[in-house]
Amino acid sequence: MNTSIVEIKNISKSFTKNNPVVNDVSFDVKSDEIFALLGPSGCGKTTTLRLIAGFEYADSGSITIQNKIVEQDKIHVLPQERGVGFVFQDYALFPHMTAIQNVAFGLKDIPKNKREVYAEEVLCRTGMEKYRDRTPDELSGGQQQRVALARAIAPKPKLVLMDEPFSGLDAMLRDSTRKEVRAVLKKSGMSAILVTHDQEEALSFADRIAVMNNGKIEQIGTPEEVYYQPKTQFVAQFLGRTNLFRAYANGGKEVDTQFGEVLINKNAEGLILCSIRPEHLGISKAEIEDDCGTIIGREFRGHDITYYVLFRGDRYIVHTDNRDIFELDDKVIMKPLEKAIVLEQNKAIQ
Ligand code: ATP
Repeated sequence: MNTSIVEIKNISKSFTKNNPVVNDVSFDVKSDEIFALLGPSGCGKTTTLRLIAGFEYADSGSITIQNKIVEQDKIHVLPQERGVGFVFQDYALFPHMTAIQNVAFGLKDIPKNKREVYAEEVLCRTGMEKYRDRTPDELSGGQQQRVALARAIAPKPKLVLMDEPFSGLDAMLRDSTRKEVRAVLKKSGMSAILVTHDQEEALSFADRIAVMNNGKIEQIGTPEEVYYQPKTQFVAQFLGRTNLFRAYANGGKEVDTQFGEVLINKNAEGLILCSIRPEHLGISKAEIEDDCGTIIGREFRGHDITYYVLFRGDRYIVHTDNRDIFELDDKVIMKPLEKAIVLEQNKAIQ
């Protein structure tokens, strides 16, 4: 079992009275783990990160970094004493310094005559040694981002905090920079907390994800868990497209639905709300045109096709591979290919 690098316990923060933007948040990050705080704009991700960094004071709760309490009641350890590296959205490089000077700047613990050699080694790790003598305005966004990462990891922090670090890059560069940054973090054995509102980024970059909504964490899990086993309607819908439907359960793991008998992921009772991902629904041509669905929309997406199916007044989304071709107005039968996930029991649907 990995040890925790950071433990956040019941942290709350309000900027205005009785309006917590971070509301009783708890999670921990293990050593070597890349952890993402994912949620919509304004849900409190950045504030949570700033609390961990020490740029904000918590109203209540505690933060422990490497077994040392850095935030609790009257304790507030200053950011520069928390042993943490930061990478921000705007890279925040010193504009008048070259790449190597930017990286060497934070190496106060290393004798002056050795700083440059070490800074060069770190630039090498992020693939930026060729650009060592360029100033930020002579570097592309992705290159600046890698220098910013080199600067953050050069003092060998155990933890790097990253706030939307890839959002200024175009799609292609974002993808490759993300992969490179992940590889550098893993190779250096550092933990990281990434703040992002981009589901795909969190799913591909992080080992575990905390999904935040309205100042609270709705679910923590691996990318597969939060995507395939969402615990709430918000998580199911925020992490990608999904189909929601209701059914009556009788205590078992099977329910009768409008598209036949469906297996559910746990025993449930009463009125339930379920989610099933579009790739977990299959469609086939209906033999008889009675009581079947109708294709009302189609999007070709290269590697797969998305169909919109109208069935008994409800609209469903289905992803199929390119071999299943249907036309608009085709009559189809829909069948779940996997278990549906129970999100709510005995509650009316809003
Ligand atoms: P985004 O993805 O848009 O950056 P976020 O999830 O990171 O959003 P935060 O930046 O943590 O959200 O902000 C959460 C809420 O707190 C927002 O409503 C924001 O307006 C408010 N807030 C943040 N900082 C302050 C501040 N210094 N003073 C007052 N309100 C603030």
